[in-house]
Amino acid sequence: MKNTQFLKEKAVEIRKSVIRSLNAAGSGHLGGSLGLADVFSVLYFYELKHRPEQPDWSERERLILSIGHVAPVLYATLAEAGYFEKEELLTLRKLGTRLQGHPGRDHGLPGIELSAGSLGQGLGVAVGITLMDQHEKKDKRTFCILGDGELQEGSVWEAAMSAAHYKLHNLIAIVDRNNVQIDGKTEDVMTLEPLADKWRSFGWHVLECNGNDIAELGDAFDAKSNEKPTLILAHTKMGCGIPEIENDYTWHGKAPNDEEMERFISVLEA
Ligand SMILES: [Mg+2]
Repeated sequence: MKNTQFLKEKAVEIRKSVIRSLNAAGSGHLGGSLGLADVFSVLYFYELKHRPEQPDWSERERLILSIGHVAPVLYATLAEAGYFEKEELLTLRKLGTRLQGHPGRDHGLPGIELSAGSLGQGLGVAVGITLMDQHEKKDKRTFCILGDGELQEGSVWEAAMSAAHYKLHNLIAIVDRNNVQIDGKTEDVMTLEPLADKWRSFGWHVLECNGNDIAELGDAFDAKSNEKPTLILAHTKMGCGIPEIENDYTWHGKAPNDEEMERFISVLEA
């Protein structure tokens, strides 16, 4: 894929915005947001057919963010893409803001496709949207990002079953496989493995890649199936980009203080 340097730079800008907005809020989900910055860069600056100046464009491809608690990376990316001014990111989680702790379609922020936060809902919505596009013979894709801990919700598997049944080849789900969730390692909380085999047995085309490698992500999106729904197991590091917090689940839902913010941003700029 071309433009990997451009996409890497966008991912750095997204991470910096995430850190600044969480610092301003004094709370929020840092680890998962940083871990997904590369996925968001590739989606919004390479893959998605969308128009930031016309958020409701009927021919747009949608990203359904099922793990709503990583809202900061969605907000940072939308601002980077021009949906709204970056300075609004500093209103994250403030009273009356359009940037609530979890994304809400009724708060007026452009680019939000799903009110999310209650886990296990997004894939079912993505199935419905893809089914509608298939019915209307529109050849456009729908993307859905799920957390790995989120896969412990039964509704995910009901949606997975229906996507295969309806042969939704334009549905691409991405699992943020960082091996951790709010209380610790996924395999200690509720075993997910063998995860790729589970999705295959549900009738999905399964790909695995390093979710923090721009080129590998691009190759994975290019290798989608034209017959089945595609699942990308994106192996990411929670907190990616800031070595001192990488894979540390205590940063799942913590904000950097002023000193940490300056240090983290200087690491990203180095
Ligand atoms: Mg996780």
